[in-house]
Amino acid sequence: MKKTIQRPGGLPPSASTPVVTPLMPSVVYASDTPDALDAQYEGRAQGYTYAREGHPNADVLAQRIDALEGCEGGIVTASGMAAVTAALLGVCKAGDHVLGGNQLYGRSLRMMTEDLPRLGIATSLADPTDAEAFAAALRPETRMVLIEVVSNPTLRIADLDGIAALCKARGVLLAVDNTFTTPAAIKPFERGADIVIHSVTKLMAGHSDVTLGWVAASDAQIAQQMRVFAVTTGLTPSPFDCWLGERGMMTFDLRFEKAETNAKALASWLADQPGVARVLYPTRPDHPDAARAQSVLRGHGCNMVSFELKGGRAAANAFAGAATGVAFAPTLGDVGTTLSHPASSSHRALTPEGRAAIGVSEGFFRVSVGLEPPEALQATFRDGLNAANAVPGG
Ligand SMILES: *Cc1c(COP(=O)(O)O)cnc(C)c1O
Repeated sequence: MKKTIQRPGGLPPSASTPVVTPLMPSVVYASDTPDALDAQYEGRAQGYTYAREGHPNADVLAQRIDALEGCEGGIVTASGMAAVTAALLGVCKAGDHVLGGNQLYGRSLRMMTEDLPRLGIATSLADPTDAEAFAAALRPETRMVLIEVVSNPTLRIADLDGIAALCKARGVLLAVDNTFTTPAAIKPFERGADIVIHSVTKLMAGHSDVTLGWVAASDAQIAQQMRVFAVTTGLTPSPFDCWLGERGMMTFDLRFEKAETNAKALASWLADQPGVARVLYPTRPDHPDAARAQSVLRGHGCNMVSFELKGGRAAANAFAGAATGVAFAPTLGDVGTTLSHPASSSHRALTPEGRAAIGVSEGFFRVSVGLEPPEALQATFRDGLNAANAVPGG
């Protein structure tokens, strides 16, 4: 018999079923007997106990992303950084060495340079477009390599196949943050990755209304290590966030396709405009890694475009102020186009020389292209360029 003291007695009976995943915010799950609970803990019965340890909305979302990445047992986390944390801290131990790409996401870089060393995990960074530089930076105690396939904000293409071969030969785990590229463009497990990471916040959830991450490993033991670490340290997500994330995922394929088409069109239009010094987009023949972009991304360019204005900071201010149809906001993957200025945001901690070394000037913008009609995008970019070109000396 069901006990109903102070608790709801269950849902009204219905011969029909909902077509949308119900939101299940329950923090705890009641069991019938201690024996029934034992059965659950021992894996003889399927069920939930406590939401930090797992809940239906997280599992539904995880399975959706697993299916896209072609894997099983992925874990949804409360943010992309929680996924990075589960991979780095859930797997590595003091005395290990971790080698990262030198243009990783800002907080991932900070974790590599500040937090891991504090915990006794040595780290170093190398240029992921150069597999030989990675080979030279490996140490006998290297446990993991962490790369992103397309770098932020200069959109350089990592030598994924070269680095994967190297990691395999040397017995090093390869972790790939697939946030910028997504499984629509590349499935890293098929290319030799051992761990794949996402900020689901970005293109996958896609509406800038939820912060989530996902991480999976091809090896079941490593997956389990990350899962236990995430549960213990509370990296796990809320049911409502997962429910929103699942809703976003329903349109992921369509959004990605449209945003990519828009990005490609915007890149070629921008390249012909006065006042634009250069345009970076992976499928353009003038991209510095054009050949590798073809082999790694297989014709995909994704939704990010970077460009440089000739007029420096004054032109950048004029552009951002006049391009009112796009949000000047440091994120990516939203349904709407967003514009980021690395020199004043993501890359402000670097010296001007440090920024110059990777080609990020005061006139440099990164665009996350959204789903607007292409003519509307061109119109607002034209407003921005007209204002930038009107700046004296610009
Ligand atoms: C945004 C981002 C992250 C961090 O994700 P959050 O959801 O903001 O924690 C990690 N990696 C990349 C490449 C990102 O763009």
